[in-house]
Amino acid sequence: VKWVYSFGDGRAEGRAAQRDLLGGKGANLAEMCSLGLPVPPGFTITTEVCTHYYANGRTYPPELEAQVDAALDEVGRIAGRRFGDPARPLLVSVRSGSRASMPGMMDTVLNLGLNDETVEALAADSGDPRFAYDSYRRFIQMYSDVVLGLDHEVFEEILADEKARRGYDVDTQFAAEEWRAVIAVYKERLEAELGEPFPQDPRRQLWGAIGAVFSSWMNPRAVTYRRLHDIPEEWGTAVNVQAMVFGNMGESSATGVAFTRNPSTGEKALYGEFLLNAQGEDVVAGIRTPQSLTEAARLEAGSDRPSLEKLLPEAFAAFVEIAQKLEGHYRDMQDLEFTIERGKLWMLQTRAGKRTARAALKIAVDMANEGLISRQEAVCRIDPASLDQLLHPTIDPDAARDVIAIGLPASPGAATGTVVFTPEEAEEMKARGEKVILVRVETSPEDIHGMHAAEGILTTRGGMTSHAAVVARGMGKPCVCGAGTLRVDARSGTMTALGRTFRKGDLITIDGSTGQVLAGAVPMRQPELSGDFSAIMEWADAARRMKVRANAETPADARTARAFGAEGIGLCRTEHMFFDEARILAMREMILSDTQQERRAALAKLLPMQRADFVELFEIMAGLPVTIRLLDPPLHEFLPKTEEEIGEVAAAMGVDAERLRARTEELHEFNPMLGHRGCRLAVSYPEIAEMQARAIFEAALDAAKRTGAPVVPEIMVPLVGMAAELSFVKGLIEKVAKTVLEEAGAQIDYLVGTMIELPRAALSAGEIAGEAEFFSFGTNDLTQTTFGISRDDAARFLETYRKKGIIEADPFVSLDVEGVGTLVRMAAQQGRARRQGLKLGICGEHGGDPASIAFCEAVGLDYVSCSPFRVPIARLAAAQAAC
Ligand code: PEP
Ligand code: MG
Repeated sequence: VKWVYSFGDGRAEGRAAQRDLLGGKGANLAEMCSLGLPVPPGFTITTEVCTHYYANGRTYPPELEAQVDAALDEVGRIAGRRFGDPARPLLVSVRSGSRASMPGMMDTVLNLGLNDETVEALAADSGDPRFAYDSYRRFIQMYSDVVLGLDHEVFEEILADEKARRGYDVDTQFAAEEWRAVIAVYKERLEAELGEPFPQDPRRQLWGAIGAVFSSWMNPRAVTYRRLHDIPEEWGTAVNVQAMVFGNMGESSATGVAFTRNPSTGEKALYGEFLLNAQGEDVVAGIRTPQSLTEAARLEAGSDRPSLEKLLPEAFAAFVEIAQKLEGHYRDMQDLEFTIERGKLWMLQTRAGKRTARAALKIAVDMANEGLISRQEAVCRIDPASLDQLLHPTIDPDAARDVIAIGLPASPGAATGTVVFTPEEAEEMKARGEKVILVRVETSPEDIHGMHAAEGILTTRGGMTSHAAVVARGMGKPCVCGAGTLRVDARSGTMTALGRTFRKGDLITIDGSTGQVLAGAVPMRQPELSGDFSAIMEWADAARRMKVRANAETPADARTARAFGAEGIGLCRTEHMFFDEARILAMREMILSDTQQERRAALAKLLPMQRADFVELFEIMAGLPVTIRLLDPPLHEFLPKTEEEIGEVAAAMGVDAERLRARTEELHEFNPMLGHRGCRLAVSYPEIAEMQARAIFEAALDAAKRTGAPVVPEIMVPLVGMAAELSFVKGLIEKVAKTVLEEAGAQIDYLVGTMIELPRAALSAGEIAGEAEFFSFGTNDLTQTTFGISRDDAARFLETYRKKGIIEADPFVSLDVEGVGTLVRMAAQQGRARRQGLKLGICGEHGGDPASIAFCEAVGLDYVSCSPFRVPIARLAAAQAAC
């Protein structure tokens, strides 16, 4: 079995398409090599070794060692060095690289191969002993932390002491001999802590590092990251071993990261940062604030620190050319890492760059317009869920801004919350329902649970490509980073800015689009959608088959829905229309009535209000289909609950409080969700359904007259389990229709259909289709009743189920294709078998979930219906499902 793939010198055994085997980094290093780009030689140990490692008690396949030796020889040959050679030592980096990028989640070791002997060779080679000893002490630090499990604090302390002793402020003040002394202290301390000396044998170092990278696949932060990003554990990581190149070999050396287009705005311009005389991890770690790559960006940022373009023009020019070549080759925006060693450019990584939703749209539309990709590809490149980011509020431009600091606009959108200083605090406060802003000096992968809990993230150090910035953009959360004038003291729980002190719990606002940090809460504004958004939506609309409707009952929701492109209302929950003061009173009167006659009298008061509601909805939807669902919830929901409320209502209605209480008790149910609700109400109290039907027909006639366009109402009966139930309610509706139309002397088309939201309905869908002119899958109730899990109580234990791997996703969020989906598929087939062309839709929450939408496409539904803000997501997801 081949476990190791080599690359270097313009040749590679692997290629980009093999990312499953080689991991993203390894596959792309191989590809870059084959393209003839300058890549330090190296090799990739495959993800299959990782699988083997975990399947066999953390051991390697027997052939691995020989394959690694051979590959290492080859790397040495290309580099003109040998691993462990005291005179011309080959030094390597050892990095993880899984199929999906997991930034900073797993371990890396640099400068491997250094020991007391080889460090002298490096000193002689580079002509810079200071650099050599600095590299060695970094290696000891990193290796001890990552491989030997010694807390890096140990060395930080020593270093701080040594600095203090000499009166130094920064590491660069140490001379070669002084670093040598520090190394001696390091080694002594390490031996005292671990009971053995630092490993001098490069081969032992190498296998230690390889083992550490494979083990880091299962470290807690990697496990958390995978859970948050749905990355399967079986994938495993590859290990990349590569000849070291040094960005810290003096003033003609540098290291940096770049995006071929702006990852925040999508603008077509090389965008990146670098540090002169620094090692790769320094940029990503956000410890020093980096400089702009290009002159244009430097000028825009108003920085007086020179750009790479100015400092190292030749290496810069070579880089620009490579960046363009890679973008064209991969046909996507690339995220690049490079190192310049003494003026010579080396490429260390390329991958599809993470970007904000706004940038993703712009890049996709631009690339389609440039002819680099097709419109269909452009549509498929946008993650539908990411559109949520565009719907983030921004600060009202007219609002007064109490700016306390300015940092980098790292991830767009604005957020207000109370200040917290640790990820744990963020999680706790969030659990208590508070919105928080996580404030850190800088973030590390250990903070991600806190970043997840926060509304926004603020750091005082680090650049646009720092951990905080990259992760926040990925999460779609507002982030301001590198706000250097802020002082954060996590221990005392304070943050000071411009002489003002903010404590844990104080409110601040961050604006991730401008980098501003503001005191207090600030009025926000809904964003306007860009032309790129419209273009993608238009292309998506051309590509999709299913219609997209909205769940809406208020005029405001209906208008929002239309503005977002809804093609009708798929669910108008009429019970939501009964909660204003005048109506609830009439409703309660109706419920308290003893006779049918009294009930009719009370309902007569509701009729004009309902009619007016429907007229407005029909007008807003201007001829688009509107599905109105008859009253669904149990009656007791409308009754007052507390003694105080009962007293109030009794007084207002002039009835005895005792009677009200008694009626409330009478209506009490042990299982209201499985109780007297849905069509069961219409069976018991036909006059309710009749009133609603009358309101619908009268409104339809009225709206048609006003707008001149015919209205075809779709009346939907909820919670049907048996065809006979539907037949009964349908009979009521038809009778009302006949009466109303006769009264008006008019004609109208209408449909009567049902929700399929009970397993029995799905099982007898054929028979029900005999009565129903359309089905709308109510997957909220269908999930609840299929699983026998209460939709109101599920959150408490489903998270535990998820953590324990029993379920992958919350079935109330993403449709359970295996179980609930089987019922849906079956009902759709039986329904259509019985009634040709039966209209099918979905109106549960799943109608706005991209994975569930893909399922709906596969089943052949005619439309999905979701909340207004999810309409764009659904339009895009429906298009992708159809591609
Ligand atoms: C459903 O059950 O999926 C549905 C849309 O109805 P409701 O959420 O109102 O019960
Ligand atoms: Mg329901």
